[in-house]
Amino acid sequence: MEIQEQAPGAFPSDFRCGFVAIVGRPNVGKSTLLNALLERKVSIVSPKPQTTRHRILGILNRADAQIVFVDTPGLHGAGQRAMNRHMNRAAVASLNDADVNVFVIEAMAWTAEDERVLEQLVKRGQPIMLVMNKVDKIRPKERLLPLLEELSRRAPFIEVIPTSATKRDNLSRLPDLIVGHLPLSPPHFPPHQITDRSEQFHIAEIIREKLTLRLHQELPYGVTVEIERFVQEEGRWMVNAIIWVERRGQKAIVIGQGGLQLKEIGRAARLEIAQLCNGSVHLELWVKVKENWSDSEAALRQLGYDSLD
Ligand code: GDP
Ligand code: MG
Repeated sequence: MEIQEQAPGAFPSDFRCGFVAIVGRPNVGKSTLLNALLERKVSIVSPKPQTTRHRILGILNRADAQIVFVDTPGLHGAGQRAMNRHMNRAAVASLNDADVNVFVIEAMAWTAEDERVLEQLVKRGQPIMLVMNKVDKIRPKERLLPLLEELSRRAPFIEVIPTSATKRDNLSRLPDLIVGHLPLSPPHFPPHQITDRSEQFHIAEIIREKLTLRLHQELPYGVTVEIERFVQEEGRWMVNAIIWVERRGQKAIVIGQGGLQLKEIGRAARLEIAQLCNGSVHLELWVKVKENWSDSEAALRQLGYDSLD
């Protein structure tokens, strides 16, 4: 109804639009899959679990449909710090809103955590697509068959699809299979929009990705990035960002001997931010301590971790 008032005849009456949550335990390749489907990097990726902390929309626009993918922090049982609770809330909220769930698992690595995610999805009752990712790691491919067959019997999946998100293998069928399960609806977003997040958000995430890739052990979990300034001056993007850590010792690690570590992180981030902004970038990074920020609900809110995303 609303549609006809706003834009009569702007899209066909059989147009479909809906939300598709990408869910699964940490590190199975959910964000990589989203980026590959959109052919754009909207969500950061690293080999470490808990890289994705926010609910991020990635919007795939087609002639017949708008598929709004929702990348989620992995659903995980472990850890009861405020940050873990925030991530689980964001993941569960995405499940509630979804018209279809894409359940991502890792080839040949079915775990008790996968089992728990499947139980939750089945309880919710929306259609589920099972994506068995990272099949490039398995040789010969025939080894996948028994598990694929066994999992197909576990729930009435729309389909079970083996994929490699990094090699972009077998991905093109996924949107085709999803569209029919979305409601008839006009697009929720303007047809050129590909994400709900601001450039500033993506800049903070790029810096956090470079930090996560270079820092070892537990440190990435205690780091967050706040953009203080993002303006264009004489044709150049000026970015000032604060890297928040939880303890003084962490600050020294992030900066590194003679400032080398921070310099490398800054260089890698600047190159990617320049691509994003399509122009030259001047990036200044400061490292500051906010004790135990990741276990404080108030600090989380202040640093941009809203209750549901
Ligand atoms: P998420 O936590 O589920 O979002 O996982 P990410 O997308 O951050 O990926 C976790 C790690 O798995 C990263 O190092 C990715 O490069 C890697 N990865 C993702 N997809 C594939 C894949 O299809 N094959 C292989 N070999 N690695 C993958
Ligand atoms: Mg992720």
